[in-house]
Amino acid sequence: MVVGIYIRVSTLEQAEEGYSVPAQKERLIAYCKAQGWDEYKLYVDEGISGKSTDRPKLQFLMDDVKTGKIKMILVYRLDRFTRSVRDLHTMLDILENYNCKFRSATEMYDTSTAMGRMFIGLVALLAQWETENMSERIIFALDKKVSDGEHVGVVPYGFKSVDERLLIEPDEGKFIMDMIDKLEKGWSASRIADYMALINDDRLWVHATVIRILRNPALCGHTRWKDKLYKNTHKGYITEDHFEKVQSILDDRSQTPRKNVESTYLFQGVLACSNCGKTLSVNRFFYEQKDGSKKQGAMYRCAPCAKNKAEVRNLGELKYKEALIEYMKVVTFNNIEVVEPKNNELEELTNQLNKIKNRREKYQRAWASDKMTDEEFDKLMDETKEFYEELQNKISEIKPVKKMDVESLKNLVFTFNQLFSGLDIEKQQEFVQRFIRKIYFRYVEHPPSKLSRNPKKGQATVEILEVEFY
Ligand SMILES: [Zn+2]
Repeated sequence: MVVGIYIRVSTLEQAEEGYSVPAQKERLIAYCKAQGWDEYKLYVDEGISGKSTDRPKLQFLMDDVKTGKIKMILVYRLDRFTRSVRDLHTMLDILENYNCKFRSATEMYDTSTAMGRMFIGLVALLAQWETENMSERIIFALDKKVSDGEHVGVVPYGFKSVDERLLIEPDEGKFIMDMIDKLEKGWSASRIADYMALINDDRLWVHATVIRILRNPALCGHTRWKDKLYKNTHKGYITEDHFEKVQSILDDRSQTPRKNVESTYLFQGVLACSNCGKTLSVNRFFYEQKDGSKKQGAMYRCAPCAKNKAEVRNLGELKYKEALIEYMKVVTFNNIEVVEPKNNELEELTNQLNKIKNRREKYQRAWASDKMTDEEFDKLMDETKEFYEELQNKISEIKPVKKMDVESLKNLVFTFNQLFSGLDIEKQQEFVQRFIRKIYFRYVEHPPSKLSRNPKKGQATVEILEVEFY
């Protein structure tokens, strides 16, 4: 068997200890010898980033895999092979097709074990989330579609899609004109939403639904796609001037500021106050970096406790992140017992439960790739949640010890440890929001430093006590 040793260093890393090409080469060859693999071939990409697979030696390696010359790929670390989960997923698929194994010399990662295969499942899930970061090529193709008047993405309220063209939907159109009319008469978005809910229950009508519909330039025949505006892609309801007028009314009256798309709060909604158990709220702040550029940070604190004048800590996101990374390194699930299904009834219920689980995952994928609005997603998730919980209850009645599948949890933790630090902040946020329901923690108080500005109050760090996963 010939082992394909793949080595990569970026320009920045060339100077770093342990990352140099000779260092990686030496260790990987030693690894091969230790495993008893005598034949190997080196593929070295020097001064090249791992963000894309457009690397000459990587391509040679993949070609050699496809012609059957290489049956095992060995890397120093997974991130040498790729930094993109999506690319990893694609390449692992290719390796599997050509019966080629994959090994990382420093990580417990092996596609021939059950653990490794579960890992690939999670990688696939993560890859799905990367759909937002679609390749330039796909975005370009979609751009072209949109500018050609073809409809892409969610069909806006008031329209239907026929042969991928947007057409006016007269039944919903009546409501659209009614909403515009009421807005111009001085009604607030919330009042319009309440009114709509009374006369029409085709969706969940809340303040945000109305705003979303009235803010959509589809109303005047334009299409907004990936922050770009394509004009006159279809026939709208009102003129552009009229649409602008509606926008200025909404601007004047918006009670809640529009969501800042740049803000990413890693732990929004998941941190449980160590004092009262309520969810910590997040406040952003801006700070200046050494080069003078401004950056955004996030602080978390418990608003109810602060209101009750309890001693509250207001700590930055990084402290929680560091604590989570530490926690995940050592967490074990040995105390969770997994019992195999015993009878038919249980099997039947479990099947049903899995079906719903799959359906919910489908919704999540559709939502993540913008094929579904937030409202639709929430609604569908709520609908299925009831049934899901009912089934869970039934199952737990049959067998008292049934918690989340331990293997999945273990693999989730494994994936976290492999990938999390390498993900960008948006992906980290997706990871947390997708997998973590609640984080229980405590503050660890440190004695005040003599050098500190406030010598009476020391610094605090965070220790995570328990993480509840979905
Ligand atoms: Zn509290």
